[in-house]
Amino acid sequence: MEREITGVMVYYHEVCRRKLWYFYHGIQMEQENENVRIGKVLDEESYKRDDKHINIDNVINIDFIRSSGVLHEVKKSRKIEEAGILQVKYYLYYLKKKGVTDIRARIDYPLLKQSLEIELTEEDEQKIEFVLEDIHKITESEVPQKVEKKSICKSCAYYDLCFI
Ligand code: SF4
Repeated sequence: MEREITGVMVYYHEVCRRKLWYFYHGIQMEQENENVRIGKVLDEESYKRDDKHINIDNVINIDFIRSSGVLHEVKKSRKIEEAGILQVKYYLYYLKKKGVTDIRARIDYPLLKQSLEIELTEEDEQKIEFVLEDIHKITESEVPQKVEKKSICKSCAYYDLCFI
């Protein structure tokens, strides 16, 4: 059976195609990475009171604030903001395909005390469809994409695999 494309996979597609391939093929080193650890702590510590963590089909894994009907993603920094935005838009897209449209989304950056409202436009939907197709192509490949050095490589959990 074909595996569903998760929000994390959409995020990795935007951040690094090679990282997406590693992740999809079960090579996971994220637990050891300090940035991911900080992310997890943030996830657990922020907005404790009104959160309800929801998981739909193992594709959407996000907090939902019931009182305001908002899907709610917490990010540590705005460093790779576009990828985080597309991830949340993918959640809205996925829910729309399931008939759920009366829902809003927001990304919060608690360390920066900022937040961003996320909306899904028609253009976004087209982009997401292109990304989903590309994710299929990348993950079906027998080998990962070539290494392309980026500014985020130094803080990537797969750094040793790519550069040593
Ligand atoms: S180290 Fe760089 S090239 Fe390798 S997976 Fe991470 S982000 Fe991609």
